[in-house]
Amino acid sequence: FDMFVLAFVERLFRPTFRKDDFVVGKKLGEGSFGVVYKVSLSKKRSNEESEYVLKKATEYGAVEIWMNERVRRACGNSCADFVYGFLDKSSKKGPEYWLLWKYEGESTLAGLLQSKEFPYNVETIILGKVQDLPKGLERENKIIQTIMRQLLFALDGLHSTGIIHRDVKPQNIIFSEGSRSFKIIDLGAAADLRVGINYIPKEFLLDPRYAAPEQYIMSTQTPSAPSAPVAAALSPVLWQMNLPDRFDIYSIGLIFLQMAFPSLRSDSNLIQFNRQLKRCDYDLTAWRKLVEPRASADLRRGFELVDLDGGIGWELLTSMVRYKARQRISAKAALAHPYFDRQGLLALSVMQ
Ligand code: ADP
Ligand code: MG
Repeated sequence: FDMFVLAFVERLFRPTFRKDDFVVGKKLGEGSFGVVYKVSLSKKRSNEESEYVLKKATEYGAVEIWMNERVRRACGNSCADFVYGFLDKSSKKGPEYWLLWKYEGESTLAGLLQSKEFPYNVETIILGKVQDLPKGLERENKIIQTIMRQLLFALDGLHSTGIIHRDVKPQNIIFSEGSRSFKIIDLGAAADLRVGINYIPKEFLLDPRYAAPEQYIMSTQTPSAPSAPVAAALSPVLWQMNLPDRFDIYSIGLIFLQMAFPSLRSDSNLIQFNRQLKRCDYDLTAWRKLVEPRASADLRRGFELVDLDGGIGWELLTSMVRYKARQRISAKAALAHPYFDRQGLLALSVMQ
């Protein structure tokens, strides 16, 4: 009850917007269920941000608004700052949901990963300055470790709230220039088992590049949401049994892999890797045995990076990318993994 009152009062004091408050700018993305634009306020009102991101979504936008509201209240730092959502009935194309976020910056992890400068480009944006130090594996590992810590921190926030993202990939990770850290975006496929909202429209395909092998089980066994009270009673049990949060962990594991192995950053090579891993029954150690003897210099460099400090990175990687969800490490446990014992990029690493 208190939660609802709080949510209501909070809503009352937040700014509200209407359609004609905005000037629509550049298109940032286009999915099957909506288009995303950068927008600015037509008349800047006093002490308000001026840059926003707007998603015009189809009927599924309602669930996405709900997810964003919940995330903002429960684990605001995990995701891009959600500002406001409303239904626009005036569009000729039928009802459209408008979702509004603070513009966090121009860099997604996907864009950063595609640069030849990765991971040094990330070091520069996190520290806000170029470090004049010799390049090398140790330094790269430290940057990657810092990114991984931020990603797991954000994911742990979502999971502790009871939300599974289900579409974790570099395109859905944005660098927030305000907090100098990575945040997760795009709750369009997210599920909240605790209150029974677990809905993926039939037309939605989980991204096969980053999806764990149980993707089909997830999307066919739970085609519709159970009624809220029933789900609320059952879901802690379901959570324990199915460990749906480990679906996201697999995706984060693949991102870790791509950061460590430059040769796996392109789409085509990632797809090829997925095929190889499937042939190895999703056993990363077997995959390593298969490819290492005839590995390219690039691939060997990746193994060298994860083998630093007695192979602690490889140990973490193999505890995330596993066939059985139940054998994958949780986000919280991963944060306590010895891979993170070493200091990350900032002296104030507790703040990350
Ligand atoms: P979809 O994938 O459904 O098109 P997303 O929510 O992933 O929609 O947004 C699409 C793109 O828009 C992202 O990949 C990112 O480049 C950009 N974007 C989304 N939200 C923000 C934000 N808060 N700040 C800056 N850019 C954003
Ligand atoms: Mg997206």
